[in-house]
Amino acid sequence: MNNSFDEIIEEIENSQNIAVAGHISPDGDAVASCCALAMALEKKGKTVDVLLEPVPEKFKSIPYSDKVINTVPDNDFDLFISLDCGDESRLGERAELIKRTFTINIDHHVSNTYFGRLNFVDGDASSTSELIYRLLDGWCNIDRDIAYALYTGIIFDTGCFKHSSTSPFTMQIAGELMTYNIPFTEIQERFFYSHTAVEAKLLGTAIDNMVILCGGRLAVSKLSIDEMAKHGGSSKDADAIVSYIKNTDGVDAAVFFYEKGPGEIKASMRSNEAVNVSQIAIKFGGGGHVMASGCTLHGKFEDVMPPVVDELIKALEG
Ligand code: 5GP
Ligand code: MN
Repeated sequence: MNNSFDEIIEEIENSQNIAVAGHISPDGDAVASCCALAMALEKKGKTVDVLLEPVPEKFKSIPYSDKVINTVPDNDFDLFISLDCGDESRLGERAELIKRTFTINIDHHVSNTYFGRLNFVDGDASSTSELIYRLLDGWCNIDRDIAYALYTGIIFDTGCFKHSSTSPFTMQIAGELMTYNIPFTEIQERFFYSHTAVEAKLLGTAIDNMVILCGGRLAVSKLSIDEMAKHGGSSKDADAIVSYIKNTDGVDAAVFFYEKGPGEIKASMRSNEAVNVSQIAIKFGGGGHVMASGCTLHGKFEDVMPPVVDELIKALEG
């Protein structure tokens, strides 16, 4: 059951030292929602530590991201706020804070396990950044830096206002954020209309590796560490590839397997209304949203891929 924003704000008002953290392998929404909330909390006179794994280069334009701390401090906090994490394991090392700190969990993953003492989960929200906007609305004044961060988080998780999670309210918020004079064209360009040469090369290899199954409805591809290294890249250059594969005409679901470390394979899934890929990811220890989910598998490609592909085929044919 959700708590109200009033209850959450009261807990924040009664705390001084606050830790804010997002999920491992932080994406645009995780970095942006953490940074936006941290800037707002500092405006409220709080002492804040944002705890995240290293911020990928492309998200370093988000204000406050240079202040992120990669380790978990030993000191006690009055309050811990987890953002954009469907379950405790998504916090990685930061999960230990839940045991020793009053925890608030704010998230938009349908698979959320309500692990906080206070929880606000809205599976229909476009992004955690949208939820942070709602939290701040009427409580803390937004400024240009906060607007920059929230706008970035929203466009990242909506695929630039494209995914079905984009609501009229999302657009209303984005319009409001634009009034803070943020460079919205540049932000969209950076995240959606440009790529590095290495990313382009990896995309080429992944497209080459793509197989189409299920009468044209399922696209599957993979990239090994060696294939990425051949072009001077690594898994961090491959996280946008699944969308390109999903964009293939006639494809209702796509899964992209890529190696993050030796024997550690990330599966990224995307779909349309035809399949709930969150349910499939949960079966393999992951989670996410109805049309975008992921999980981490351990083993060789030839062993870990077939069970996931079989589940997708079953779901498509079911
Ligand atoms: P992506 O495929 O872009 O990494 O992730 C798509 C969605 O699935 C994101 O909302 C992300 O939070 C979620 N997701 C990705 N990998 C995992 C995972 O290993 N565990 C869980 N619980 N969620 C994941
Ligand atoms: Mn998110």
